[in-house]
Amino acid sequence: MINIVLFGPPGSGKGTQAHNLIEKFNLKQISTGDLFRYNMKNDTDLGKLAKSYIDKGELVPDQVTTDMLVDEVKKPTDAAGFIFDGYPRTANQTAELERIVKEVLNSEISVCLSLVVDDEILVERLLKRGETSGRTDDSNEEIIRNRIKEYYTKTAEVAELYKQQGKYVKINGVGEIDEISQKLFAVVEKIK
Ligand code: ADP
Repeated sequence: MINIVLFGPPGSGKGTQAHNLIEKFNLKQISTGDLFRYNMKNDTDLGKLAKSYIDKGELVPDQVTTDMLVDEVKKPTDAAGFIFDGYPRTANQTAELERIVKEVLNSEISVCLSLVVDDEILVERLLKRGETSGRTDDSNEEIIRNRIKEYYTKTAEVAELYKQQGKYVKINGVGEIDEISQKLFAVVEKIK
């Protein structure tokens, strides 16, 4: 299996690149952000809980996020592996993912692909996305800056953990979408 952690701050292009990677390598994408938005749209209990954090630009607590992820990983699939998009976002989630991938899939994380984008470009991109996405968390600069702050205080350390395992690969997330995809493809080809 190829199991990719797609990593990077909000607005770094994880969703876009995940889309290209799943097509190229026949992978299944699990986006915790998409799963939360699906629950919010359907007004489930989980959606209501998630909304109270997401609308402030804060992370949803680890336990509910991890439970939601496990349910997805357990669903049968004929994909060649997974792309984890937006998970892990904390050190605790990183350890949980390792355990889940081992226990449920009898596999391991192959690589952490990290999209690097300057903060001011992130803010610009997210405000622009907010004009059409309808996402409440893209709607104002204060919430966006809080998401970036959460990234540095809670999520950035995830990178350190994958670095220690020799699984961390940085890719410049600024440029043409296809050009960035080609760089990601090249890394995955090498580890396949
Ligand atoms: P972005 O990468 O643009 O921030 P996402 O769709 O990945 O967008 O996430 C949107 C929001 O959902 C996050 O700001 C956070 O509140 C919540 N969320 C998503 N994934 C996680 C996670 N792994 N742990 C905690 N909260 C999460």
